[in-house]
Amino acid sequence: MTRVVLAGCGHAHLEVVRSARAFSAVGAELVLVDPGRFWYSGRGSGLLGGRFGEAHAVIDTPRLAAACGIRLVADRVVGLDRAASAILLASGERLGFDLLSFNIGSTVRPPGGLEAGQGAKPIAALASLRQQLAAQGGPVRVAIIGGGATGCELAGNLLHLRRAAGRPIAVTLVSAAATLVPAAPRGVQAAALDSLAKRGGLVHLGQSVASVEAGASAEAGVLTLSSGALVPFDHLVLATGLEADPVVHNLGIASSKAGLRVGETLQSIDDPRIFAAGDCAAIEGHDLPKLGVYGVRAAPVLARNLLATLAGSPLETYRPQRHALSILDLADGRGLAMRAAFWCGGRAALGLKHFLDQRFIDRYQKLYARN
Ligand SMILES: Cc1cc2nc3c(=O)[nH]c(=O)nc-3n(C[C@H](O)[C@H](O)[C@H](O)COP(=O)(O)OP(=O)(O)OC[C@H]3O[C@@H](n4cnc5c(N)ncnc54)[C@H](O)[C@@H]3O)c2cc1C
Repeated sequence: MTRVVLAGCGHAHLEVVRSARAFSAVGAELVLVDPGRFWYSGRGSGLLGGRFGEAHAVIDTPRLAAACGIRLVADRVVGLDRAASAILLASGERLGFDLLSFNIGSTVRPPGGLEAGQGAKPIAALASLRQQLAAQGGPVRVAIIGGGATGCELAGNLLHLRRAAGRPIAVTLVSAAATLVPAAPRGVQAAALDSLAKRGGLVHLGQSVASVEAGASAEAGVLTLSSGALVPFDHLVLATGLEADPVVHNLGIASSKAGLRVGETLQSIDDPRIFAAGDCAAIEGHDLPKLGVYGVRAAPVLARNLLATLAGSPLETYRPQRHALSILDLADGRGLAMRAAFWCGGRAALGLKHFLDQRFIDRYQKLYARN
């Protein structure tokens, strides 16, 4: 039997798993390798702010695989033996493949030389931080490095938590850029700053972190900013941008800083049996931001191209859209929707974000909910 191995259950592979029947219909065995459950990042900051629980943010990968009738190997890919057509797993096991696809995501890029703090990814860590904050009595200081969409959403949700739980949580955001969300239209930048500042968030713009000094507990410390200002913290969260999971550079196939190098068919430029999609992939000729939406859009093409390769048919090309809709939720009761230079803010934008997020989660949860 021909075996198709899916490494990582990110946005694109969720959809391939969902189309498992098309693979069994042509006599192919689909095997998924992933160490845990799928945490939906669109709800990550809301998990931290206590506005969503796991039921609204997590897809139970083992239950999904069982419902779709595919084998799950609960392990992590650490290497590739291309000559033997096998992947190497963290447990020391090997798993053979005929076709292989990577969708293992990204990790937070630490700002120059900084070895402190918790990254905004994995998303599960944000849920753990929420539990730690709930367990700690008294005042607590959280510092966030990074003023992009993620840093702003995390700060906004912590400010929401402070109000909703009546907890004295001091929230400080530090960014080397001169504005918040530098990639967004100016109106969004101003609205984000206004939202955080009005609710008592402290924002340091145009300042990089010169050093971090360890504090009394494992998580605590003090940031020294380029201006000389000191920011003491009990928890430090890094929201300094995403980069492809470092594993992609240990596979012995072409990769760049942005990820595994693939063509528009999503095939490795080195090996037509190997595919990649989502944040761990770098599609030749496209410099894409690390956003889940690109993995979602690539998913149907990836599924069809895996099937076409099995059938020996021509493959499709995936041409990513240049601009994608994104909606910021700063937990202030309104959304900030933007696409290229256009933006609008309000309750309707927030409603649209909740609708789109819930629709994505329902699409997969419903497959196993009745089992
Ligand atoms: C707080 C936060 C909020 C965000 N909000 C948005 C948003 O609203 N919209 C948006 O488009 N993007 C958002 N992003 C960006 C988004 O998280 C990523 O772009 C997206 O998750 C990438 O999807 P992916 O499918 O490539 O990988 P992921 O969703 O990260 O999935 C990768 C999967 O691979 C598994 N895995 C990892 N390593 C291995 C391994 N070695 N072997 C096997 N399996 C492995 C993991 O368990 C995981 O299930 C946000 C990011 C953060 C941090």
